[in-house]
Amino acid sequence: MQYPHTIEKANEYASDAIERMHKEDLAPTPENYELWYVYYASLNPEVVRAIDILVGNSQDITDERCQELHQRFLSDGKENDRVRQAGSEIQETIKNINTIVDDVKNATSEYGESLSDVTEKLSPDMGAEEIGVVLKEVLSNTESMVAQNSKLEEELGKSAAAMEHMQKDLEDVRKEAMTDGLTHLANRKSFDAEIRRIALEATEEGSEFTLILMDIDHFKAFNDNYGHQVGDQVLRLVAKTLIDGVKGKDVAARYGGEEFAIVLPDTNLQGGIKVGDSLRLAVASKEVVNRSSGDKLGRITLSGGVAQYTEGESVEDLIGRADSALYSAKHNGRNQIVAAPGPGQKKEAG
Ligand code: GH3
Ligand code: MG
Ligand code: MG
Repeated sequence: MQYPHTIEKANEYASDAIERMHKEDLAPTPENYELWYVYYASLNPEVVRAIDILVGNSQDITDERCQELHQRFLSDGKENDRVRQAGSEIQETIKNINTIVDDVKNATSEYGESLSDVTEKLSPDMGAEEIGVVLKEVLSNTESMVAQNSKLEEELGKSAAAMEHMQKDLEDVRKEAMTDGLTHLANRKSFDAEIRRIALEATEEGSEFTLILMDIDHFKAFNDNYGHQVGDQVLRLVAKTLIDGVKGKDVAARYGGEEFAIVLPDTNLQGGIKVGDSLRLAVASKEVVNRSSGDKLGRITLSGGVAQYTEGESVEDLIGRADSALYSAKHNGRNQIVAAPGPGQKKEAG
């Protein structure tokens, strides 16, 4: 976003924003600050409108609300810009269609009038020549009607193509927003949505599903020894191994920096352990080679925690159980998969 103001003006908006955050008892986060700066500087009409509506309806301004507003209007500007652009293109296209439809409506009613004129003009005692003149007029009106209609058809065809194009563009934006840029795995946002969807499905259908959380062992050392770029290469290698190692409805996601999550629908704990172990072995079997120098940099290993969903438990609890199993795997010496006991049970089984 551009900040087109002088320092004096910017100072004024900044202190307004801070004062307001203080007054509403909001956390001093960068997101809250950005939201209120944008509001006072009127940098985004949608933000101004949304906040004014909240205030107008005497709604409480809470941290949650601000976070929602920030996410809706200010996070990931690129995505929002493209969506807004597609929105205004669609509006433009619909306006065009409406104009043409209006034109055709007018032409149709003129055509109708001209036909009734002709009916009135025609009489049984007309000679051939007179009838010929009337017919010529009807023909010319009909031709112009046909021309108008084919123009409408052509324009509607163009509009349909334009809309199809915009639809594809929006679909691309949606996909990008759900994908991790570095690894091309599902990102955290997508994981959060998917695991909730799968949990709901499992509850509705009485089916089982299992979550694996995996973390690269000693990744910091790898990064420190060989640099961030090689670290990134390792992340892509692991991601590719995960993608190749899961199938069908399974969801592989980048959960955090060097942590990965795999959701396995219709899979129980035993199945989850099997998948986790085969992924662990697949990663361990690959040697990392420095792309630029060709040097062999050794192997990397993963630790993982597996937890099967128990009906009625929250997704947060399920993630918590997988996470403490992962912690046990690290604690037990890494390069291993640990199964989480059910909720309420105590000890982790190896
Ligand atoms: P442990 O075996 O206990 O998991 O040790 P670790 O070193 O893997 O764990 P730690 O959490 O200490 O370090 C994680 C490192 O991952 C730190 C950070 O520099 C690195 N990292 C996180 N995200 C990225 C990334 O996108 N690219 C690169 N290259 N490194 C990342
Ligand atoms: Mg980690
Ligand atoms: Mg790690």
